[in-house]
Amino acid sequence: MTHSIVQFAYIVATALFVFSLYWMNSPKTARRSVFAGVAAMLLAIIATWIQPEVLHHGWIVLAIIAGFVVGVPLSRVPLTAVPQRTALSHAFGGLAAGLVGTAKYYLWVSESPEMLTPFRMGAIVAEIILGYLTFTGSLMAAGKLQEVKWIPQRPVTYPLQNLTNIGLLVVAVGLGVFLVMQPAAPFSAIAFPAIIGLSLIFGVLLIIPIGGADMPTVISILNSYAGLSAVAMGFVLDNKLLITAGALDGSSGLILSIIMCKAMNRSFTNVLFGAFGKVQTAQASGEEKRYKEETIDGAAQVLEQASLVVFIPGYGMAVAQAQHRVRELYDQLTKRGISVKFAIHPVAGRMPGHMNVLLAEADIPYSDLVEMDDINADMPLCDVAMVIGANDVVNPAARYDKSTPIYGMPIIDADKAKTVFAIKRSKNPGFAGIDNELYFQDRTFMLFGDAKAVVGELVKQLSGNSGMH
Ligand code: NAP
Repeated sequence: MTHSIVQFAYIVATALFVFSLYWMNSPKTARRSVFAGVAAMLLAIIATWIQPEVLHHGWIVLAIIAGFVVGVPLSRVPLTAVPQRTALSHAFGGLAAGLVGTAKYYLWVSESPEMLTPFRMGAIVAEIILGYLTFTGSLMAAGKLQEVKWIPQRPVTYPLQNLTNIGLLVVAVGLGVFLVMQPAAPFSAIAFPAIIGLSLIFGVLLIIPIGGADMPTVISILNSYAGLSAVAMGFVLDNKLLITAGALDGSSGLILSIIMCKAMNRSFTNVLFGAFGKVQTAQASGEEKRYKEETIDGAAQVLEQASLVVFIPGYGMAVAQAQHRVRELYDQLTKRGISVKFAIHPVAGRMPGHMNVLLAEADIPYSDLVEMDDINADMPLCDVAMVIGANDVVNPAARYDKSTPIYGMPIIDADKAKTVFAIKRSKNPGFAGIDNELYFQDRTFMLFGDAKAVVGELVKQLSGNSGMH
């Protein structure tokens, strides 16, 4: 009876996971998606807990309390820190899979070696390799994104790097093949911990050559690895829900990685092996280029004369939490009959969909958010491109400068607009650490200051102007 209830609960949970992913497709259903995901997970935990094999309930209660203690503060991080928070979740997921695989192996090898069939042993090997490399890889990624001091932010490359990485993986897989053939041979006492050690090192080496603009792709590939290790864990534990949920996680992470690779013009195979770091050459420090600045009054006048204004938001809008002021500016312009669009770059901000989330929070009509590929055709017709705390995603160097880490990444063609206003606080570069020639071109005018303050002043100016009419 319990068995049937559990299997039924697993089917319902699987369906909820599938719907949860499906509902993520649109901001309108995203909230429902989160509830479906939470309900599925709750159901999965309860259904697993009520199984007769579970004897030590105290441990489970303890684990749930520990989960709450860590999880609740993690849920309170600001939106700008979500990528590193997500990386931490992948790290915990990978570690859990690795530990379960390790525990199962030692339990079976000492008590019932006949359980270690080639299939199960193969699943354990896949689980520990993927689990442990996801653990250290995700910790490194989280550390890089959080700008932890002792982790180098820039890509670290050295000779024969790709060969070393692939070599390590080949040795780990080779030891795994040996274990599949002879799980309980005396040498396995060395082979098993060696695979763990190699996977932990591989995770670190996978991430250190990656930096700057490529971090988001890496986070989603680690997401995929964590999912795949859960699939392997499902085969080890003979748990069908783990297999399906892990497969959903693994495949959606993989699809997201492929989409992001395309968006950034990166080779997917290189991403898979962590071999796509580029050494960033130091910027030639030629003569100092000059910025032109514009006053709030002047910018407001130009905006009022425009017929098409394109807002290009970036990470700085998130830092300043300027989205509500941006909405007010949008209102001021649209009520004058000016057409206003938002150009959304796939990696603007610090996580996929970052700009969409912020703009949805400010109730900007979704129909006015235009993807990069669609807006670029209109950029030459655009009277004012308003860059709001964006930098790398509008940097023309990505088109031709092979020495920059963003080379090859498609950008929003802000430089083709008739006039560009760029809001940022200082002359500092963006995430990739490189100068942006857009700011020095003839038609670009800087509005230096915090995005929330500058956009707020523009709104004040425009509402004052409309009052005078
Ligand atoms: P960006 O290149 O990081 O530039 C952001 C700009 O915002 C900076 O130049 C900064 O200049 C300005 N800024 C910061 N705080 C501000 C404030 N309070 N008010 C006004 N301006 C402010 O951002 P981006 O153009 O959005 O490009 C995203 C970058 O992050 C890409 O390189 C992308 O690959 C990378 N990345 C993306 C993701 C993702 O999934 N989306 C994840 C990780 C990394 P000042 O300091 O002078 O103000």
